[in-house]
Amino acid sequence: MDFSASDSHPEVRAAIRAICAGFGDVYWRRKDKEGTFPEDFYRAIADGGWLGIATPEEYGGAGLGMSGALAMLQTIAECGGGMNGGTSVKINIFGLNPVIKYGNDEQRSRIIPAIIGGKAKTCFAITEPNVGLNTTQITTRAVREGDRYVVSGAKTWISTAQEADYMLLLARTTPADQVSKPADGLSLFLTPLDRKYVEVREIDRMGRCAVDANQMFFDALPVPVTDRLGEEGKGMRYVFDSMNPERMVVAAEAVGIGRAALRKAARYANERIVFGRPIGQNQGVQHPLAHCLMELEAANLMATKAAELYDRGESCGLEANAAKYLAGEAGYRACETAVLTLGGNGFAKEFDVERYLRDIMVARIAPITSQLIASYVAERALGLPKSY
Ligand SMILES: Cc1cc2nc3c(=O)[nH]c(=O)nc-3n(C[C@H](O)[C@H](O)[C@H](O)COP(=O)(O)OP(=O)(O)OC[C@H]3O[C@@H](n4cnc5c(N)ncnc54)[C@H](O)[C@@H]3O)c2cc1C
Repeated sequence: MDFSASDSHPEVRAAIRAICAGFGDVYWRRKDKEGTFPEDFYRAIADGGWLGIATPEEYGGAGLGMSGALAMLQTIAECGGGMNGGTSVKINIFGLNPVIKYGNDEQRSRIIPAIIGGKAKTCFAITEPNVGLNTTQITTRAVREGDRYVVSGAKTWISTAQEADYMLLLARTTPADQVSKPADGLSLFLTPLDRKYVEVREIDRMGRCAVDANQMFFDALPVPVTDRLGEEGKGMRYVFDSMNPERMVVAAEAVGIGRAALRKAARYANERIVFGRPIGQNQGVQHPLAHCLMELEAANLMATKAAELYDRGESCGLEANAAKYLAGEAGYRACETAVLTLGGNGFAKEFDVERYLRDIMVARIAPITSQLIASYVAERALGLPKSY
């Protein structure tokens, strides 16, 4: 591990910062209020060739792996994009992993150039309303009929489904009572989101309001067999492979949001004069900010380690989960502390920290909650009985 720079890929960060200079806090504040997708930002990132940052060079990408992707997404969050900025592009980055790894040549050449070229968008449809984090129990069915499957069921909280042309869809192909392990019998598809058969209903929500999150209802959606990734029944294993990249990406974004919040809080604490001196001269104000900075940077090291392990093809489950947990919690404390540092102004939209605080909640909930990460770590790293 190279500790010579506090943040990896400085050249990526500088280039993304240059793009983000045209999309500052005022832009994201407006987009969040309007609740409209940041298409011009997405287009700037796509036109710069950045959607292929983690895609191997043999498939037309930059081949910078997850460590490159983390640098990019962290910078977007840090420049004021919060969760809106990253989510408008990130599913098109880590969502391609199962296609690269488990797709065939025809699927790769059909999908990857369109996604990384910014000509098509995708979403990742896994979560279901009645099973929550118990993902192996999902009930959306894909029933084989000749050379196609017919999909019926419902998903919830699916990000960017309003925008997506394609979806990565996890569905049950063998009934749960006919498989020996709960993770068996689920298959992963990359297929067009055909709105004739899929109703997409946006969820009104607390934060990340520029990028949609949705309920989806599937009514006999036909999916060609050629849209199935890998083998039938092994989809959950393929999804597991994408889970670690998603966790580390969210960790990097959470650190980025936390840094943005601390930057605003420190500037405010230096400038705001109360009782004849800057409020930041009081240790009661500066120590919480200093604690937040230390926690954030420690979480960032864990995310960096997770990405490096992943890019070397090594196991990184503990590190990716730990990074997501640490960064989600540290980011939350940083945003909360920033709001409190700004006093009444922390509650005002024009100072942005309240938006960061609303956004950072996503990093504690999705794609897995802090509780379930603790349960996983207790089981896998400490050898305690499985509790979920
Ligand atoms: C903004 C946003 C965007 C999202 N985008 C996507 C997306 O693009 N695609 C997608 O598939 N999903 C997406 N999700 C869904 C997200 O991954 C889930 O919300 C998350 O996994 C939690 O599942 P749940 O909401 O069903 O919670 P539940 O499983 O209902 O859990 C509720 C609470 O109970 C706790 N809990 C449950 N079981 C246990 C246990 N055994 N021990 C301890 N605590 C427990 C949980 O930690 C949590 O606090 C998104 C969610 C949000 C909020």
